[in-house]
Formats: sequence, structure tokens, C-alpha cells
Amino acid sequence: MAMMNGTALFAQKALLPDGWRDRVRLLVEDGIIVSVEADATPAPGDERHELILSAMSNLHSHAFQRAMAGLTETRGPADDSFWSWRNTMYRFALTMSPEDVEAVAAQLYMEMLEAGFGRVGEFHYLHHGPDGDPYANIAEMAERIVAAAHIAGINLTLLPVFYAHSGFGGLAPADGQRRFINSLDSFERLMSGCRSLIGQCEGAALGVAPHSLRAVTPQELDAIVQASAGGPIHIHIAEQTKEVADCLAWSSARPVEWLLDNASVDERWCLIHATHMTEAETRSLARSGAVAGLCPITEANLGDGIFSGHIFLEEGGRIGVGSDSNVLISLNGELRQLEYSQRLGRQARNVLAAPYQSTGRHLLDSAAHGGALALHATTGIVTGHPADMLSLDLTAAPYLVNDEILDHWIFAEGVTVDSVWIRGRRQVVAGRHVARDEINRRFVTTMRKLLRQ
Ligand code: ZN
Repeated sequence: MAMMNGTALFAQKALLPDGWRDRVRLLVEDGIIVSVEADATPAPGDERHELILSAMSNLHSHAFQRAMAGLTETRGPADDSFWSWRNTMYRFALTMSPEDVEAVAAQLYMEMLEAGFGRVGEFHYLHHGPDGDPYANIAEMAERIVAAAHIAGINLTLLPVFYAHSGFGGLAPADGQRRFINSLDSFERLMSGCRSLIGQCEGAALGVAPHSLRAVTPQELDAIVQASAGGPIHIHIAEQTKEVADCLAWSSARPVEWLLDNASVDERWCLIHATHMTEAETRSLARSGAVAGLCPITEANLGDGIFSGHIFLEEGGRIGVGSDSNVLISLNGELRQLEYSQRLGRQARNVLAAPYQSTGRHLLDSAAHGGALALHATTGIVTGHPADMLSLDLTAAPYLVNDEILDHWIFAEGVTVDSVWIRGRRQVVAGRHVARDEINRRFVTTMRKLLRQ
């Protein structure tokens, strides 16, 4: 399945940085695009495809949570909420071994590739053994994430999470959080382990993730930002109204307001969710250059609220998408849910596009650029970039052209993902990962064991 040195790929249509081009011929050597020619003639032996796009970044994932997808949809005795979901998630987190995490993450990353994601930002906080003690190798769990990314063949940006407290003002962690907790000293050892793991992993990047303003003190936040050493910095922020109220009680400022006032937030930062913001916060965050890491399917599943998308984009803000709780793995589904949340909130259509612009095209372009920035990756079918690409199957709707195809894929799903290449290696063929059976068998065995415990 690998594209050998100097092999060529010919697409009837491709989305290049300057727009749609016909009859595009790509040469790939050692996983890198070395030539892009439009209006080209195919040569005998070229691999033929209908339509090629750059693969997308999934900027926010907690891999282990894929194990509980669909298992928290039964109502409890009273109103369910993010917080009751979190209790279930903690119970699940406490049962999983390193082997379990690797098996679940490999299944998840395979599904991400099948959806058209070429890179995952793993916001990794399940660090320690079930009793809360670090494994002999403090980066054991991170090593399992790296192994899973390697098995599935997805690009990885690893975001080791610093988590130390259960609430604003440095509250002691709760017992259910024991596998997540580090001191600044132990986090330094963890980061050192992660640096050597990532150093051996082609195409991988390393950042840091102070978990949230609930889980780190201002002093710890400064230290973690220092530890990022130029890499991306991701943080959960303003996902829930309770978090906003607690932050106000602690500091008299709202979470995004506090962060913008107390940290040098710039394009190295990715603020995950940023759901509950005033208009002033929304505009300030947009102007900071940071990426808003939106997780529309998870935010809908958890009843978080609606991001102020039209104001943020009007102000020139950058966005990317992530699958967060991994309840459903769907690239076009995330973009659709993002736009639909805006439509429901504003009682209007085509909210996130500019006048006379395709909504699908605008969402895809925005999430491609924001996602790549947030994960320190490249995007675009460009000479010198890794050949991280996807092709779409247009069989069911061959009458569509250009942006109509993207709108159809996102809103109507007649168009589907056909192939996905990571560094020139074709990992998905006809919508199926090349190692699907083997990866899925291991996942099923693991799930049976976890659910019987
Ligand atoms: Zn998250």
C-alpha cells in the first residue's frame, strides 16, 4: 500500500491553496510531495482518483473515552449533566490498564483516519496506575498513545496534561482524579519521557496542556507555559456555566477574561471549547490570534452550550475542530454540527460563511488552517509538505462540482471518504483502514473485558 519512491498520483480534481484545480498530478518521494502540477496529463501507472484534499487535523481528543462512547445515554434519577457524565468517565478511567488504553486508542485513531483526519492532538491526562502511583516509567501511558498512533498510522501531536487540583484556588484533587495528578517535578519527568518518545516518531509534535483554570494555579500555569518550549499550549476553558461562576467567585473575572489578562495568549495557544464568553471576550480572543478548539459533537452530547461563532469569525478568529470525548468520529459531522448549532441559536441559515461563499468550503478551510496551527503541523497540497491527503468518492453524486461537493459531503453525506494517505502511505482504501480487522478484534476483546469488570 505504500507509495514507493517517485510514484505518482493523478486526480481529476484537487483543492490546492489557490483553489480548485483540474487534472492534478502529484509526485511523492519518501512521504513528501515533491511536485504538484495542474492541467497535467496522467502517465501510465499513475494511481487515479476523483478528488483530493489535504487531510485534516483533529485538535482535541481524550482517547480512552472512546471506550465509553454510547454507554452514557441512559437517564439517571434526576437531570443529567456534564458533571454526572464526568463521574461515569472517572469510574471508567480508573479501570483501564496501559494495554487497554493502547487497544482503544488504536481503534479510535483508525476511525479518525477513516473519517479523513490525518493528525490527532491527544490531550493526554490518564498518566498513572489505578492507585494513583506513577508507573515505573512515568511516561508509560504516553508511550501507549504513541504506540496506538503508530499502529493506526496517524500523525500525533502529543499534549501531556498538567492536572493538580479539583477546583479554583488550588483545591486538593479529588480521589477520582488520582490517575491524572502531577507535581511540577513529576510533570518535568513526564515531559522528558514524552520528548524522547516524540523524538523517535516521524511527523510527531509535542506541546503542553494545563488542564483548565480549575486544575492549575496561576503559578503552575506560568511554569507549564515555560515548559512548552515553543510548542503549542492547549487548555480547556469556559465549557460549563458552573466553571464560569466558580471562576468569577475565585477571581472576579470570567475564565477567558482571566486568561487573556493573565497569560500572554497568542497563536501558540488553543482554547478548547471557549463556549461561555461575553461579546467582549469573544472579540478579544479572536484578536489574540489563538485558536478556538471547538468540539461541536461532544459539546452537543454534553449539553455544554453554543460557541459565539459568528462574532468570533467576524472578528477574524481562528477555529479548529476536535472530537474530545470521542462519542462519534466524524469530520464532516463536526463541521455540520458546528454550523447547525449556530443556525439553531440564531434562527438563520449559512451563519458561518461570508456572503456568497459556500459554508462547507469556509468551514473546511478555517478548520484546516486553525487545526494545523494548533497542532504545529502543515496543511495543504503543496510541494515540500508531507503527503497527508484524502480522496472523496463521488460515485453517488457525480453531478456535483467544486464547493458543492464539500457542501454535499458535510450536509448531505452522499459523498464519502475513499482513501487517506499519511506521509504518502495509503492507510484507508475504499473507506476502510487497511488494518481494520486486526485493530478492531483487539478493541472488541478489550471492551468485553472492561465491561465485565
Ligand atoms: Zn476535552
